[in-house]
Amino acid sequence: MVVVETDGGIEQSDMLKSAYDGASVTGLHVLRHSFDDVLRLPSTAARQMGERALSAECHACQVRRVCGGGLYAHRYRAGRGFANPSVYGPDLFRLITHIRSAVAADIEHRREALLQGGRR
Ligand code: SF4
Repeated sequence: MVVVETDGGIEQSDMLKSAYDGASVTGLHVLRHSFDDVLRLPSTAARQMGERALSAECHACQVRRVCGGGLYAHRYRAGRGFANPSVYGPDLFRLITHIRSAVAADIEHRREALLQGGRR
């Protein structure tokens, strides 16, 4: 996803603006560049690497497949770039594990109810 600003500038996702000043800037313009040019930027490729772009902490995390490292913009740290866990990592971990536990308990409750119903 890219954004074409009103002056014709091509920028990366607006969400990156919350990471640091200029994070979404590509230096490209619709009158001089193609959208394929945007795809060739390292910063664009980095956003499209999926799981391979995650930090070591996220790779070792038990909720990685659900969390995905959180929103890309929330991973930025000055001096370290985007290869970090989300700034909301502890909250994401707690939320995901809470939902997992609640769903698992509900499924078990329903399974037991079905088994008891089947015995009648
Ligand atoms: S909970 Fe934290 S460490 Fe785990 S995948 Fe999400 S951001 Fe990474």
